Amino acid sequence: MAQWIWGAAALASLSTVGMATIARAEAALTLVYPPDGHQTTAAQIFFIGTGSADQPVLLNGAPIEGRSESGYFAPTRPLDLGPNTFTLTQGDQTLAITVTRVPPGPTLPETLGFAEGSLVPAVAVARQPGDWVCLGAVAPAQATVTASLAGQTYALLPQGDRQDLPANSAVLTDQARPYGSTGPSHYESCFRAEQPGSLGQPTYQLTLAGTTVTAQAPGTISILDPNTVEVVAVTAAAGVARTGPSSDYSRLTPLPQGTRARVTGREGDWLRLDYGGWIRAAETQPVAGAVPPRSLIRGITSRQVPGWTELYFPLQVPVPVSLQQGSDTLTLTLYNTVPQTDTIAIIDDGLIERLDWSPTLPDQVQYQINFKTDQQWGYKLRYEGTTLVLSLRQPPVTQASQPLAGTTILVDPGHGGDEPGALGPNGIPEKDVNLTVSLLLQAALEARGARVIMTRTDDSTIGVNDRTAQINQDEPTLALSIHYNALPDGGNAQTTAGIGAFWFNTQAHSLAQFLHDYLVAELDRPSYGVFWNNLALTRPHVAPAVLLELGFMINPEEFEWVTDPQEQAKLAETLAEGVELWVEQSE
Ligand SMILES: [Zn+2]
Repeated sequence: MAQWIWGAAALASLSTVGMATIARAEAALTLVYPPDGHQTTAAQIFFIGTGSADQPVLLNGAPIEGRSESGYFAPTRPLDLGPNTFTLTQGDQTLAITVTRVPPGPTLPETLGFAEGSLVPAVAVARQPGDWVCLGAVAPAQATVTASLAGQTYALLPQGDRQDLPANSAVLTDQARPYGSTGPSHYESCFRAEQPGSLGQPTYQLTLAGTTVTAQAPGTISILDPNTVEVVAVTAAAGVARTGPSSDYSRLTPLPQGTRARVTGREGDWLRLDYGGWIRAAETQPVAGAVPPRSLIRGITSRQVPGWTELYFPLQVPVPVSLQQGSDTLTLTLYNTVPQTDTIAIIDDGLIERLDWSPTLPDQVQYQINFKTDQQWGYKLRYEGTTLVLSLRQPPVTQASQPLAGTTILVDPGHGGDEPGALGPNGIPEKDVNLTVSLLLQAALEARGARVIMTRTDDSTIGVNDRTAQINQDEPTLALSIHYNALPDGGNAQTTAGIGAFWFNTQAHSLAQFLHDYLVAELDRPSYGVFWNNLALTRPHVAPAVLLELGFMINPEEFEWVTDPQEQAKLAETLAEGVELWVEQSE
């Protein structure tokens, strides 16, 4: 898995007992995770490592239970707030590490003051007249907090009943429930500003027990002049639009190059566009002298090209769009668009059942493409001048005798080179197992007639963007990213095991679910689950793209299976079989 890769840092901090014992390397007491000095907000931590299988390993004096045949271990221990010291011993070998548990959320300074980085805004913010503008700070409870801005003073009140949310990763350890903030209080106040102009930087004042401190927010606040029209055009191949002004916010449909929209707000280097989405300013360029982009739309046509059905939406100016995929539907929304449509021609080439459309007044139009089958094989979106072209993938043409003949499957062995991925209890990096199993999978798929593209065939370093670029360029029938799993802190490595499958676009859900179910059933493996996940290797929509986590590197028993060459061969064969069956049934 990507995010929780301890990787290079842990490899560098692999704790063994002196080089002299390398000769006894097989039996050396080894701790792969956590590294000494590790900091976490989790209430418990797991220890991943190994030692001689025929001797007990003690953790703070107590023997570790549940070790595997080869001696791998993964016990979990609770953490107190602050530093926690742990000692591992086996025979005359001893390893000592410290793990520090820190409270989640912002922390207060020693002396009276605001939590660092909590004064709003942290960056320059611009809003439209009538927008809500909120001021906020994190400070000790029971304090009096005010903010002065442009000659006004605002009393900020504690938002005591607001809950905090754990990170998305908490889903993977089933700990995704809101929690009451135990730390300092969030103080907030909001107002609507009408007058265009700069309001400057808010100055915050905090009074507690007769002591007062002041601090200035790093960012400025300004109100845009409604008579000044600022229009930008997307310069990126696919502009990354989001629900808010940072990469923490969820992705919207990428905006095709050339898309134009009016700027209605700013936050740091992010722009809010008139249809509501946010985009980095760096992915756009100003359009001088433009009026607010609006377009009429009339007739819609379609055409078949090799492997694709293309739909043409002629517009006067490239407007923002969004796509929503169902099993047998794809819904396109055009923003800032007013229909004058009387005629639509959709060719009957076996793919599209019907196109339904409806104006969503005052200036949005929705088109629902209804497919003849409930498996979609990919789509592309681009502007050709001011005409939006939506390309829909035709199903692969296959033979009943050899369903994979004529298909191209991209196999992506995760990580590689200076990115090791997760580490097994004996330090074996995930990247090596990914490659071994992917090469076996390549052979098994080719034996079934598929053409296979590999993103790597050796231990090379390849960035995720290069991998997705290859998928978008080569346009395979399917894309499979091969990984082995780990857990974020707070999980239980001893009890968590099994096959995981990850998807993002609806067209990939059936493949993810089928391969998960097939591997679990045929190989009699535990199920970790099927997850919707916003990952670089699941986001490509030119083909169904799935990321597989075939087992846990950090589960002692499962790691024995993960690294067993016979089991690896069986896994690759079964996975190829599953792909073949899925293509056959999805036709
Ligand atoms: Zn991985």
